[in-house]
Amino acid sequence: MWAAVARGPGEVLHLERRPIPRAGPGEVLLRVGACGVCRTDLHVVDGELPGARYPVVPGHEVVGTVVAGEGFAAGARVGVPWLASTCGECPACCDDRENLCAHAQFTGFHRDGGFAEYVVAASKYCIPLVAGFTDVEVAPLLCAGLIGYRASRLAGAAKRVGMYGFGAAAHLLTQLLHWQEREVYAFTRPGELETQAFARKLGATWAGGTDEAPPAPLDAALIFAADGALVPVALAAVRPGGTVVCSGIHMSDLPRFPYQLLWGERVLRSVANLRRRDAEEYFPLAALAHVQPVTTTFRLDQANLALAELRQGAVQGAAVLLP
Ligand SMILES: [Zn+2]
Ligand SMILES: [Zn+2]
Repeated sequence: MWAAVARGPGEVLHLERRPIPRAGPGEVLLRVGACGVCRTDLHVVDGELPGARYPVVPGHEVVGTVVAGEGFAAGARVGVPWLASTCGECPACCDDRENLCAHAQFTGFHRDGGFAEYVVAASKYCIPLVAGFTDVEVAPLLCAGLIGYRASRLAGAAKRVGMYGFGAAAHLLTQLLHWQEREVYAFTRPGELETQAFARKLGATWAGGTDEAPPAPLDAALIFAADGALVPVALAAVRPGGTVVCSGIHMSDLPRFPYQLLWGERVLRSVANLRRRDAEEYFPLAALAHVQPVTTTFRLDQANLALAELRQGAVQGAAVLLP
């Protein structure tokens, strides 16, 4: 099979011919139909995340068809998300916080992911996929959709929700929140007028640059961009008692900021990884809300191009690889 491989931190992906992997006990072998490209893949390739195993095949928004293995019938369509396995025994696992398991393994990080024609995954951590979405459409829901959903859940019952960085996650969450009759305030890099128009088209109440203040104080702000300088900006935009959620796995250092920005019972928190339960809640909701992923597809041999466009912010919506 062909696979796009990160051989070491900071190296471009190399297209390699590899033997098709075999499913072990409790695993399935999938033929990959589509695999979303996430900002985390960019961090893996750039070597910004400690603990990654190189060489590794990135990709953790994998949609595949079961070829062989245990737990699913051959031909079943399943998703392979970021969470590849957990220990099932630690305090986090026993307390419904498996996303925080200290011994968790991640797809496209510890284990080979979906930038390949075939992938092996632990059956218990695969997500059975609902009908109604094509492979390309459902791929970005597996991380971008889910992390946006979890971030909005952690922000509580907010009516006015700000989103800083309008990429894959924000474009999916905007549709869900719009359907829930909540207001979305979309912040893009200053001058990105096309992305601002895109946000309005998807239901955002307001869209502007990160250098602008929202027209009204926000109940919550979700930061999807990897820029730590946005934290004080977002804190300044939320009302007293409001929450700011940092949704990326990696962020540049936070600048010093006056305590006054946090004062007033504002909450600053992160969201880390995802539980299987988040997927059980999210997928039916996304179908009900008729979330329509906007995607740009790339062939597997264009994986480096997909990453480059993602880095530049040139992809509107989500990038998806077709192995
Ligand atoms: Zn991701
Ligand atoms: Zn655990």
